Amino acid sequence: MLSQWNFNNSYLQLPKIFFSKTKPNQFPNLELILKNQKLIDKLSLDRNKFNKFIVTSIADDKQDFYSQAYAGHQFGHFTILGDGRATLLGEHLNKKSERFDIQLKGSGKTPYSRNGDGKGTLKSMLREYIVSEAMHNLNIKTTRSLAVLKTGERIMRNGFEEGGILVRVAESHIRVGTFQLAALSKERKNIEELLDYSIKRLHPEIYEHKDRHLEFYKKIVENQINLMIEWQRVGFIHGVMNTDNMALSGETIDYGPCAFLDEYNPNKVFSSIDQKGRYAFNNQPKIALWNLARFAETILHLIHKDQTLAIKIIEDLLKSFEKKYYELWLKMMKNKLQINNHNEKDEKLIIELLDLMHVFKLDFTNTFIEIDNDQIKKHDFMKNWYSKLKERRKINKKFNKTNDKYNPKIIPRNHIIEKVLNESENGNYDNLYKFIENLNEPYSNEVNSNFQKGPSEDEKIHQTFCGT
Ligand code: AMP
Ligand code: MG
Repeated sequence: MLSQWNFNNSYLQLPKIFFSKTKPNQFPNLELILKNQKLIDKLSLDRNKFNKFIVTSIADDKQDFYSQAYAGHQFGHFTILGDGRATLLGEHLNKKSERFDIQLKGSGKTPYSRNGDGKGTLKSMLREYIVSEAMHNLNIKTTRSLAVLKTGERIMRNGFEEGGILVRVAESHIRVGTFQLAALSKERKNIEELLDYSIKRLHPEIYEHKDRHLEFYKKIVENQINLMIEWQRVGFIHGVMNTDNMALSGETIDYGPCAFLDEYNPNKVFSSIDQKGRYAFNNQPKIALWNLARFAETILHLIHKDQTLAIKIIEDLLKSFEKKYYELWLKMMKNKLQINNHNEKDEKLIIELLDLMHVFKLDFTNTFIEIDNDQIKKHDFMKNWYSKLKERRKINKKFNKTNDKYNPKIIPRNHIIEKVLNESENGNYDNLYKFIENLNEPYSNEVNSNFQKGPSEDEKIHQTFCGT
């Protein structure tokens, strides 16, 4: 079959420390379970031939496939890592010459697998598909999911489980950890080449700038602030914000133990391995800042020849992170409450709401829907706060209510994901497809109310797991 890929692997021009040539395992009984029509179109692939094409792409052993090397701080501890269960098929250029990394996740061992088997369960790959595409449709930057395939193998996890492959699409998989790996090397040119490559790939518009290294760093900081605000807007907890899981493209990456808030709790943690709450909901912006400091350390000598001065420049920049983050957070929360214009008591009003939500264990997403549609007054304990909000709205400038893209009507709730995935294990994909369809338009008022409800006490999922 003729390949539809238009590969142009710029990453392979980098020094060899950054990758290894790899091949996916061969799976004779691959079966396509999910495909993403819109993304197929965006990549300029042929909808009608996709099913066969994607299976033959994985079986193709003539191409220049590779896995990326990187390092990273995992829960604060530095380790050498790499794509332990991922193979990049290549960088595909669509008809508009936009570049996308096309990666298989769960396709078998690589030189970076350490003790792992290089595989993933079908369930965890479907989970990543659901959540990453939901994030995209919520207008949040993220890696995308093109397809999920069943490998036909059973792999050992909690007993034997079906194996799966996710075809993941990203603007780029370069991470803070890629720079941390480069910084370990004695040869300075490794860092310089990686940095110039990243600028050309992610922000070509600043390549000619006389301070391009610093300008690039500023862009990365800005992207991360925006991403953190967006996660707070929808109640998303990533769960494993290690430096190897922070993409310089500003895309949300690696959907392992992530989850959305049901009840609002700023200290909420789902991940079973995050025992100290390092990656708790409200801690995420601080961790992004910490990760950005680790990134800065790797390129300090390129920020300024004088190291003391370089440190000062970065420190000042990172100090401004908090201020900028706060300004944007306030703006975002005001948008969620449909208030504009300035009033010095706005922050107080917002904090009061969040405190009430916390104390009365209100559902994060549905509370904002109830505020939007005047239902919030059904709770006696919210009446006083709600009248303050209505009073506050009187000083609003004209507001265009039809354009609400701040409060989603549906999010991929954990208990529903579990339910549809459990059904799919028994070969019933109906609710999985329906759920995905509803998540395609999260701001529409037409969503199925069964997918909107928070979990009942016995439906609640208290923990999520990595490496499944
Ligand atoms: P994560 O925190 O999910 O990004 O994974 C951390 C590291 O473990 C990455 O280098 C992964 O490639 C690797 N890894 C995760 N699962 C497996 C697996 N089943 N086999 C080999 N390596 C894995
Ligand atoms: Mg990772």
